[in-house]
Amino acid sequence: MILLLALTLGAPMQVGPPEGGGALEGCRRCDRRGVVDCTDAWHGDVPLAWEAEVLCSVAASCPSCGGALVVDCAKCDGGPESAAMEARRAELQAFAAKPHPALELLGPPVMRVEGHHLELAGRIRALRGPKKKDRPSGHRFLHEALRESERAADLVDAHFGFEVGKEPPSPIPLWFWQDLDDHVRVLHELVGATGSGDLKRLDRHPLFSVCTADDQFQDDYAQLVALAVHTTPHLMMAAAWDGRWVGDQGAAWLDEGAAHWYEEKVLGERRHLCVEETYTTEVWEAGLWRAGVRKYLGRNADPMLPRLLALQLPELRPEEHALAWSVYDWLVTAHPEALPEVLKAAKAGAPAREWLRDQLGLAFPRAEEAWRDWVDETYPRKEKRPKRRR
Ligand SMILES: [Zn+2]
Ligand SMILES: [Zn+2]
Ligand SMILES: [Zn+2]
Ligand SMILES: [Zn+2]
Repeated sequence: MILLLALTLGAPMQVGPPEGGGALEGCRRCDRRGVVDCTDAWHGDVPLAWEAEVLCSVAASCPSCGGALVVDCAKCDGGPESAAMEARRAELQAFAAKPHPALELLGPPVMRVEGHHLELAGRIRALRGPKKKDRPSGHRFLHEALRESERAADLVDAHFGFEVGKEPPSPIPLWFWQDLDDHVRVLHELVGATGSGDLKRLDRHPLFSVCTADDQFQDDYAQLVALAVHTTPHLMMAAAWDGRWVGDQGAAWLDEGAAHWYEEKVLGERRHLCVEETYTTEVWEAGLWRAGVRKYLGRNADPMLPRLLALQLPELRPEEHALAWSVYDWLVTAHPEALPEVLKAAKAGAPAREWLRDQLGLAFPRAEEAWRDWVDETYPRKEKRPKRRR
């Protein structure tokens, strides 16, 4: 039935006799696929392989393939991949037709790219690339930011025992607007928030919206990719289970430490500082946090965890971002099995000494020692600056 449909819809041109009878076998020209890759310039600077991983409203509007990413082979009647082409096109058309609050508010073109955990959407013409001449498209940015953020989301799932698509609910929206007007309208009319800075709604149904031209980001492609990756664990951890955010429940170390940790794990460096959340924009120890934390702990013998593990987000000083990251680094490396219960305890507002005792079997002085020993064993005295990927 599906094959018949493929034949009638998908093979307008019949050039030459079909090769072989019965099942469609394609031809030599299409590598026996029955279809060939779409070469329409519509796809711009986004590789088809990236498109194939996700649902994308831009791909869905391609005049040649309608999002299928392949078109009928002109030299044959179709082949084993013809039915899949039709199915993918139908899937993309259905995705593009889904109502979307930002699209309804602002009108087209609002681009949307959806993965397993996240929906990245927005209106961006082009951004600033690493070289002066580079002007990567907003479409490419949404794809690359989604790919990297989905890698972070997979790690978050694994560490907290989340289940893709179920816990936390997905897709979680991250929206990027080049024009401040768009961002402000979204905030005012969809979120009910005032102001114009980037916004995180941290509850069971979280949302992130930002103006890419904001002073802090200045349309910088790599900086904005880092922003998306950094924001992903913030939103997922808040959304999980009871939808409670731990950043104002005395567990800012967990919220921020994890965000810094996944950003570095995925991108190889930390670029995003959550600056509005810190006292200053200073980059602590030039961002070399392993050697920095080791040195800092060596110079400060007083117990640190009792205070650090009880702070609220606005209270975190620059060095405490690094220390929080290090505590998370220690837990995720040495005690990963404890993480789901640690997050649950933090959401319930339990003091750190409770989960340290229950999950790690460590009272406070012993926990401090264990973390400090681990830092001494694990972090170098001197650290080289990581190479920029782009
Ligand atoms: Zn062919
Ligand atoms: Zn796309
Ligand atoms: Zn196409
Ligand atoms: Zn953050």
